[in-house]
Amino acid sequence: MPETPYFVSYPEAVRILESHPLTLPTETVTLDQGFNRILSRDLESKVDDPRYDNSAMDGFAFRYEDSTPPPSHLQIIQTVQAGPKTPLAVVEQGQAARIMTGAPIPDGANAILPIERCEVDEVNNIVTLTEVGKKHFIRKQGENLRKGHTALHKGTILTPSSIGLCATMGYPEIPVFSQAKIGVISTGDELQIPGTPLNDWEIYESNSFGLISLVKWSGHHAKRYSSVVDSLDNLRMALNQAAEECDIILTSGGVSMGEWDLVRKLMEEEGDIKFWRVKIRPGSPPLFGYWKGVPLFGLPGNPASSHVVFRMLVGPYLRAATGGGGIQERRVRVKLAESFKTDGNNLTLRRIKVDTTGDNLLAYSTGYQGSGNLNSLVLADALTLLEPGHSGEKGTWCDALLL
Ligand code: AMP
Ligand code: MG
Repeated sequence: MPETPYFVSYPEAVRILESHPLTLPTETVTLDQGFNRILSRDLESKVDDPRYDNSAMDGFAFRYEDSTPPPSHLQIIQTVQAGPKTPLAVVEQGQAARIMTGAPIPDGANAILPIERCEVDEVNNIVTLTEVGKKHFIRKQGENLRKGHTALHKGTILTPSSIGLCATMGYPEIPVFSQAKIGVISTGDELQIPGTPLNDWEIYESNSFGLISLVKWSGHHAKRYSSVVDSLDNLRMALNQAAEECDIILTSGGVSMGEWDLVRKLMEEEGDIKFWRVKIRPGSPPLFGYWKGVPLFGLPGNPASSHVVFRMLVGPYLRAATGGGGIQERRVRVKLAESFKTDGNNLTLRRIKVDTTGDNLLAYSTGYQGSGNLNSLVLADALTLLEPGHSGEKGTWCDALLL
């Protein structure tokens, strides 16, 4: 039997994940169901945007030449609103059309003056233009998007603005990747759900809540399983059920070297481990493998670690399943405003606050970096990506992953 890759570097872990891809089917959803879903193909516009030259302002439309030099007096010949119901008259020399934002530009007109810069004599139907007309207040047909042009690419996670753009482009429905159904199982005798009284030596279970939020944030669907006590039989039952019902299983806890680290033990004995332990800090215990043919990430129990490992390993795995799309990791270069503890073996992921007010992005620690301390993760807006061997000294630079 081949040796299980053990204590692998971060790039090696990513490479192993890449060689075990998950393929998700695609489906069509309505625009109202599209938020946070991931496009499964490029979308080209079905129309020009704008569809026709139109006014960017409420005001008057006329021949530019008639507005210079100001002031000039023009005869008002018509009113054009957005979506006019009557045919448009041609604007001849010496004439102006009252025009609303979004209304088509009548033939003949080639400039706009906003209403605030016009004086209207309602009795004689004359407008006085106090300034020269503005050609740039005409929004030109196709200036935002041409028909046939691809504006949204496969793998895009649909934000409120991109959903709006789908509608602008004429799509009533959008092709998306089906959401992965991701089962979340926490393990540990000491865990109790928030809201129940705690007995001696019990703590509130937090990882499943954080992980389920991360799954939703990534555009997928989460299913929580009751937290499992540290028993091989119970764990086996929970994994079997999750494998029947889910595309991916996330466990938390029980993957370290301890006597009670039963996820690792069960996976060793009855599962198929592809790697165990990764050279990242915090979060070195994770394992990845298959349980009954279903990809399983054994995430660490420490709450900050489970979150960080999701971002570093599960996130890329999910993005690969959706054409490299989904929530994109955004990295920035930061300068360390204080020294950070690093080491020669691990990629060091410190929770940092980034000060953006100066010429450089400055990284400050958010406080105690213990792997159980969720509070310093809440205060953080990024994680350092200090490469193994980086000195971590104040004044040096590194990449950081925005949270
Ligand atoms: P383990 O990986 O099971 O050894 O757990 C490491 C640490 O994380 C221990 O202090 C556990 O009590 C804690 N822990 C494990 N799972 C959870 C969880 N779901 N919620 C909160 N803390 C947890
Ligand atoms: Mg445990």
